[in-house]
Amino acid sequence: MKQTILITGGVGYIGSHACLEFLAAGFRLVVLDNLCNSSLESLRRVKELSGHNIPFVEADIRDRAALDRLFAEYAIDAVIHFAGLKAVGESVEKPLRYYDNNIAGSITLFEAMQAAGVKTVVFSSSATVYGDPASVPIREDFPVGATTNPYGRSKLIIEQVLGDLAASDPEWRIALLRYFNPVGAHKSGRIGEDPRGTPNNLMPYISQVAVGRREYLNVWGNDYPTPDGTGVRDYIHVVDLALGHVKAVEKLREGPGVRIWNLGTGRGYSVVEMARAFEQASGRPVPYKFGPRRAGDIAQCWADPSLAEHELGWKASRGLEEMCEDTWRWQSMNPNGFDS
Ligand code: NAD
Ligand code: UDP
Repeated sequence: MKQTILITGGVGYIGSHACLEFLAAGFRLVVLDNLCNSSLESLRRVKELSGHNIPFVEADIRDRAALDRLFAEYAIDAVIHFAGLKAVGESVEKPLRYYDNNIAGSITLFEAMQAAGVKTVVFSSSATVYGDPASVPIREDFPVGATTNPYGRSKLIIEQVLGDLAASDPEWRIALLRYFNPVGAHKSGRIGEDPRGTPNNLMPYISQVAVGRREYLNVWGNDYPTPDGTGVRDYIHVVDLALGHVKAVEKLREGPGVRIWNLGTGRGYSVVEMARAFEQASGRPVPYKFGPRRAGDIAQCWADPSLAEHELGWKASRGLEEMCEDTWRWQSMNPNGFDS
């Protein structure tokens, strides 16, 4: 029997790629999004690429009545919960907005799920919950809690809310997926990351430099204790990440409880290595200048992804070259994102 899943935030960057992978794996979908950080053009292209009609509900996860109507209308088996605000810097300036949207919104969603008897959820968490790890690679049993900003705290609190929920009701099936650094785009070049305003994240910034929208990359710090002094992260192709969600929801069929998996590749690259790899893939120069460290940044962070490999049979297979090539295809075909 085909399962029907609700994808909150399914119009956004990771959600849109997840839609395609869930459809390819034979799931039926309903997408809910309030479009606060995305364009409906993304969903239109997902429909076009997949050849499927996807029911869309424009609503906020804080709108309990809208959620109740959705669960009454569609027989949902599981929820993939991407909806949330994600800009670290903005979360420092507007903590209440982040706590309200991410935490209050998630609680409203879980309440509506409980009322509807839908007790399977896959939650988009982040490696940020580990704070500055004592060592790398990072395993799921490393301590969490030393998060440095309201965004990270919102992820940690939602993880804890879900832990308490599972402890109170043994029917819940919960996956906490801790993402490392999602990059890349769908092979078609039709969907990808389309940040509004100046990108905060490295890869969209680099690709905007390569396409000529920005003059040079600011490298935030070159005095870290890393091989070339610049920050090291575990960049993971968004399609690999999306496939991890399909595996997680399939695994949750086996039984109740809370499961935690890192979704990363297990290898780190520095900022300068990323700029160089992007130059190779795009054939365009990516000039950079060294600047001061960015507040709250850590030197290095990469995953031990072996638990997901062992338990989910999932492993990231797309390497750095493919991440850069796919980002470049999306960026060059859509120099102004979905507005092009
Ligand atoms: P995104 O902004 O592209 O997608 C999030 C979507 O959620 C957007 O379409 C937005 O309109 C929607 N949304 C936000 N608040 C909502 C609300 N209250 N009600 C309904 N819809 C709402 O971001 P993304 O990169 O696709 O991230 C998806 C999830 O993964 C987020 O929860 C994010 O925190 C998490 N995550 C992202 C990264 C990353 O680097 N991209 C890393 C770790 C975790
Ligand atoms: N970074 C940078 N310049 C930028 C954006 C990011 O040097 O314009 C660096 C940042 O300091 C970090 C790495 O790139 O070492 C990844 O940053 P990003 O914001 O993409 O992810 P996160 O900080 O969440 O790991």
